[in-house]
Amino acid sequence: AAAHSSENAVEASSTATDDEVRKLLTRPFQVAGQSLYVTASIGVSVFPYDADSDADLIKNADWAMYRAKDGGRNSVQIYSHALASDVPMRLSLESELRCAIELNQLELHYQPKQNLLTQRITGAEALLRWRHPTRGLVPPDEFIPIAEESDLILSFGSWVIKNVAQQIAAWRAVHGTVPQIAINLSAVQLKQRELAREILAALSEHGLPGSALMVEVTETGVVSDPLLATITLEVLRDHGVHAAIDDFGKGFSSLTQLKRLPIDALKIDSSFVRDVVIDRDDAAIVQAIIGLARNLGLQVIAEGVETSGQLGFLLNHGCSEAQGYLISRPVPAADFAARFLGPQMA
Ligand code: C2E
Ligand code: CA
Ligand code: CA
Repeated sequence: AAAHSSENAVEASSTATDDEVRKLLTRPFQVAGQSLYVTASIGVSVFPYDADSDADLIKNADWAMYRAKDGGRNSVQIYSHALASDVPMRLSLESELRCAIELNQLELHYQPKQNLLTQRITGAEALLRWRHPTRGLVPPDEFIPIAEESDLILSFGSWVIKNVAQQIAAWRAVHGTVPQIAINLSAVQLKQRELAREILAALSEHGLPGSALMVEVTETGVVSDPLLATITLEVLRDHGVHAAIDDFGKGFSSLTQLKRLPIDALKIDSSFVRDVVIDRDDAAIVQAIIGLARNLGLQVIAEGVETSGQLGFLLNHGCSEAQGYLISRPVPAADFAARFLGPQMA
């Protein structure tokens, strides 16, 4: 039997059951006088059924281990061919992702936000894309969760910050005014003490005011260290950078915490907007969020608006800003400039 874990490589003897192996690993390790606890995700492959070379046997145990991690840590997964069919994809994605920045495969698409009353474009959200040589344009839902399991998300996050600042400056030079651009911050980024400094440095490198930028954070992104998140957002606010709570209503919101956070806007999660016209509960939730935003003096933006019916509902209930396919899909930077920015200055 070959067993493997990402935290420690484990050789399972043929007599030990996986329970015994895990029990052994729950004991603390002593490192520099400190007790460190690890959990093990174990993948098992069996010779000669699963592979006939040692390299393949280990590789298959690795695949099983990734599946064990997916199913919640601290568990055991036995390799099977069915299991392998989608795990290799994930493994190769991860190693390919590591080269994505160097190979220039990342790009940002921009989706406008519109004021429904004036029809004016009030801002845009920068959304990450991975242009893969054979897979084509990979959407963020397929690679950000993988990046978030390692430090990769920090490199991606830094890339987005730098790239957006550079893009705004380039657009300003050509088009004059540029609507406020929003970037998404991952929970992992929000745990970095240097985050506010990093964002402000990128802005000042391009001579941009803070108001050129908005950051979008999720409730889950804030919840693990609310104090640090508050400080980060406060520093940004002092420099004019706006902040929005993304996917609002989807997380487990603490209204007490919300009140303390220095934010400017709530984005209504698209899952409530989708059926707002036909589902009474969703309609009630959307109305409640609009009311909450108004009472807290926050701007409110509806996400995922696809139909004029949804748009009508929002307008009738006092939400005047929206983002969604009805207005525009996210588009590459050049298209965004051509469609939504003013004429080029001489
Ligand atoms: P999000 O921040 O909630 O972004 C909105 C998502 O909804 C985008 O998906 C957008 O393309 C999609 N969308 C917009 N309008 C509509 C609509 O009318 N109908 C439908 N069905 N969908 C619509 P996308 O671009 O695939 O991004 C997915 C998620 O990936 C984002 O959700 C965000 O959480 C994450 N993400 C994207 N870029 C970044 C990034 O640079 N950093 C981090 N940390 N996360 C990012
Ligand atoms: Ca967002
Ligand atoms: Ca969202």
